[in-house]
Amino acid sequence: MPDYSSLKTKFGEHCRFSEPAENFTTYRAGGCAEVLVKPADAEELLWLAGWCRANSAPLLVLGRGSNVLVSDKGLPGVTALTEKLSIIEVSGTAVTAQAGVLWDEVARLSAESGLAGFEKTSGIPGSVGGALRMNAGAFGQETFDRLVSIEAFNAAGETVKLLKKELSFGYRRAAGLDGLVLLSAVFKFERGDSAALIQDRSCVLAAREVKQPLDFPSAGSVFKRPPGDYASRLIDASGLKGRKIGGAEVSAKHAGFIINSGGATAAEIYALIGEVRAAVKEKTGVVLELEQILLGEF
Ligand SMILES: Cc1cc2nc3c(=O)[nH]c(=O)nc-3n(C[C@H](O)[C@H](O)[C@H](O)COP(=O)(O)OP(=O)(O)OC[C@H]3O[C@@H](n4cnc5c(N)ncnc54)[C@H](O)[C@@H]3O)c2cc1C
Repeated sequence: MPDYSSLKTKFGEHCRFSEPAENFTTYRAGGCAEVLVKPADAEELLWLAGWCRANSAPLLVLGRGSNVLVSDKGLPGVTALTEKLSIIEVSGTAVTAQAGVLWDEVARLSAESGLAGFEKTSGIPGSVGGALRMNAGAFGQETFDRLVSIEAFNAAGETVKLLKKELSFGYRRAAGLDGLVLLSAVFKFERGDSAALIQDRSCVLAAREVKQPLDFPSAGSVFKRPPGDYASRLIDASGLKGRKIGGAEVSAKHAGFIINSGGATAAEIYALIGEVRAAVKEKTGVVLELEQILLGEF
C-alpha cells in the first residue's frame, strides 16, 4: 500500500484524500478518489507520474470530468486533474494549448483571432486533453480537424511528440493515445473573418442553451451517434424521455442526455443507461454504443 502522505507534503492543499467525484465530474455523482492531486504545471505532473510508477500506485489523469461516470465504489490510487496546465498561445495561424485549457477557450480565442475551424465546437465543457482523447466535436467540426501535433509523456516518463498523421482517429475516437499523459497540442487554422466567426460561436452557444439541459448536471450525450441516425431520436421514439431511476433521468429536453436531477448515484445512472440501451434495441433494433467513459468498478 503506497504511503500517500508524501504527496500531501509535496502538493499541500492541492492534494486531497477521499475527494467525492461530485467535486470533479460534471455528473456530480459517484464515489471518492482515494487521492486527488492538482499539479501546478507539466513538471509537477511528470513528477507525480514518476512517484506513482515508483510506488506502484494507479494514476488516472482527468480534465474537467465532463465525459466520465465514476463508480460509487470510487477510484483507487491517484487521480490527477490538469486544470492548472492552462497556458494558451496564438502565433500566426497556430494555437498551442496545454492539456488543462478549457476547450471553449480554444474555440473563443481562435474565433476572436480570426482563425476558422473551431467556432462550432464552442461550449464543449471539457479540457484540451479530454477533447484530444475523445476527438470531441460538434456541428461538423472535430478536435482532430485542426490538429498538428501532441506533446505527451509515455509510461516510462519520456516526453514524446506525436504528429497527427501518426494517429488513427474517427468519430469520437482517437487511437494511439492509450497510456500517454497528454501535455499540450498545436492546432493550425485557416484565416477567417473574426466578426463572422464570433457570430457563429454565439449562434452555437445559443443553440446549446435551447437544446441541452444545461441547468442540470450531466456528462453530455450518453451514446455515440449510430450511423445515419441520432441516439436522441431513437431514445425519444422508444418513449424514454423523462424515464427515471432514483435521481437519474432521461432529459425531457434532450433525450440523448441523462441528467442528475438530484442526488443520483452512479449505480442509478448506470442502471438507466442499461435500461435505455435495452429498450432502444428492443424497439428499433439499434445497439447504442456508449460515448461516456465508465471509471472504476460497475
Ligand atoms: C453539457 C455537456 C455538453 C457536451 N457537449 C459535447 C459536444 O458537443 N461534443 C463532444 O464531443 N462532447 C461533448 N460533451 C462531452 C465532453 O465535454 C467532451 O467529451 C470533452 O472533450 C471531455 O473533456 P474532459 O476534459 O472533461 O475529459 P474527462 O471527462 O476529464 O476525461 C475523458 C477521458 O480523457 C482522458 N484524459 C483527459 N485529459 C487527459 C490528459 N491530459 N492526458 C491523458 N488522458 C486524458 C481521461 O482519462 C478520460 O479517459 C459534453 C458534455 C457536457 C457535460
